[in-house]
Amino acid sequence: MPGGGGERQRRIERANRAVTMGRLSASIAHEVNQPLSGIITNASTCLRLLAADPPDIAGAAETARRMIRDAERASDIIRRLRALFSKARIASELVDLNEVSREAISLSLRELQSGRVIVRLEFADDLPSVEGDHLQLQEVLLNLIRNAADAMSSVEDGPRRLAIRTVKAEPDSVLVAVQDSGPGPDPANLERLFDAFFTTKPGGLGMGLAVCRTIIEAHGGKLWATMAVPHGAIFQFSLPVKAGQPRRSSPRSTNRREK
Ligand code: ADP
Repeated sequence: MPGGGGERQRRIERANRAVTMGRLSASIAHEVNQPLSGIITNASTCLRLLAADPPDIAGAAETARRMIRDAERASDIIRRLRALFSKARIASELVDLNEVSREAISLSLRELQSGRVIVRLEFADDLPSVEGDHLQLQEVLLNLIRNAADAMSSVEDGPRRLAIRTVKAEPDSVLVAVQDSGPGPDPANLERLFDAFFTTKPGGLGMGLAVCRTIIEAHGGKLWATMAVPHGAIFQFSLPVKAGQPRRSSPRSTNRREK
């Protein structure tokens, strides 16, 4: 049946996306429920303290403050999620991942410079474009770069190196790898890193990698993490190249430099 394979593939992709979104919403519900139950518990304590004879005004005020803290936590989670998903619409355009990587680096420049990070770009000069959403793919790179910088902020006894490599992979895909010289994640956690709300950072939300994986999978690709040698992390994603696309080869897309 002509085109049957493509339709089947699209259905599988839609089903995968639905499963990912289902898992994501379950975790969001779980995360927002915690402050909400805190508010309910504190509200009943507050009522009990006010109904006491004499009423415990100081105690009631303290429980009211805890309610505010929990409500702020819930609204903070929602605000940050909305910011992450604000670019949820998927545009379909031809995207040059060398250009996206270069932009992500320049958007992160201030953070990288203040973290004394040495950046190395190794871009394939015959990299075919992928079809997808430029801004969303940029968001993925920004997240991976931010995580790498965070991970290396604890490195004091060696260089803080960030490398971004793009490679044309056979048969019809491209690969982007972001490698850092930080301590690397705990190898036992390699898969959990992508779970929504998994974080080891004080104040972290743990949504960055979950969103990155959702974006890459929505583009028909894969995102995974490995340990770098001798230390550090490598986060890489592969994306399919649209068949029959003319190969581009622009001098602008070759770039090897150290900063
Ligand atoms: P957050 O940055 O809010 O913690 P992420 O989903 O982006 O959320 O990351 C989840 C966790 O994955 C981080 O808390 C950290 O433990 C781990 N991680 C991510 N990137 C790296 C990295 N480059 N090196 C070591 N650990 C990392």
